[in-house]
Amino acid sequence: CGIVGYIGKREAYTIIMDGLKRLEYRGYDSAGIALYDGSEIKLCKTKGKVANLEARVKEEITTNGNVGIGHTRWATHGVPNDVNSHPHYSNSGDLVIIHNGIIENYDSIKTELLKRGYVFKSDTDTEVLINLIEEVKKKNNVKLGKAVQLALKEVVGAYAIAVFDKNKPDEIVVAKLGSPLAIGIGEDEFFIASDASPFIEYTKNAIYLEDEEMAIVRRDKKIKIRKINDDSEVTPAMQELKF
Ligand code: GLU
Repeated sequence: CGIVGYIGKREAYTIIMDGLKRLEYRGYDSAGIALYDGSEIKLCKTKGKVANLEARVKEEITTNGNVGIGHTRWATHGVPNDVNSHPHYSNSGDLVIIHNGIIENYDSIKTELLKRGYVFKSDTDTEVLINLIEEVKKKNNVKLGKAVQLALKEVVGAYAIAVFDKNKPDEIVVAKLGSPLAIGIGEDEFFIASDASPFIEYTKNAIYLEDEEMAIVRRDKKIKIRKINDDSEVTPAMQELKF
C-alpha cells in the first residue's frame, strides 16, 4: 500500500527504509526492498512490519548502492506471506517491480504467459504484470520505458508502479492510474513515493503524476513524462512543497 524509490548519489537503503516507515500509516501486511549494488539486485521481503524487514535485511543482504525500490503491501491477490510480498522479479531476474493497486485482468494475461512458458512463484497480480512487461520487451525488442507503456495498455485496473531493469541501472520507470505517485526532484537524484513524506527532508520540489501518466527518471537527466495511452509528452508540473 506504499511505494518508495530512490536513484541518485546517496545510500538508497536508508532513504527507502525511512520512507517505508513514514508510509506505515497507510496500512500494510508485508514489506520488501530491492537494492542495486552496482552489479546485482539484492532483494529482501517479508510478511509483517517494516521493523521485521529491517532485521532480515541486516542478516540477508548487503545494503550498499544508490538505486532501489521498497514496498509495503496490502494484499489483494494472494495471502500475506513472504513470497507474495513485493518487490517481484520477472522470470529472467533482470526486472523487478513494486506495485500498489490491482490488475483486474491478471488471470487472462497469466494464462497467455503460462502458454509461453512463464512460471510464477507467487499468487499475485503484480508478478503477472512484471512478466507481461518482460514478454512485451522481448517480443518487440524495445527498451524498458516502451515495454512498460505497451504492457500497461493491456492492463485493466489500478496501479502505482516502479520498475527497475538491471541492464539499465541508471533509470527507474514509474506509472500511475488510480493510486498516488509523487516524484521528488533533487540535484541529479530522484525520489519516488506514494506521498511526499519520504523525501520532504531532501527536496521541496515535487511532481505528482496524473492518472494514465508514466515517467522515466534517469540519473543526471531531466525527467520525461508521457501519457500512457497516446504517447504524448507531458510538461512536468513542478510544485513547491510547503511543510
Ligand atoms: N495487488 C497487489 C498484491 O496483492 C498489490 C497490493 C497493494 O496495493 O499493496 O500484491
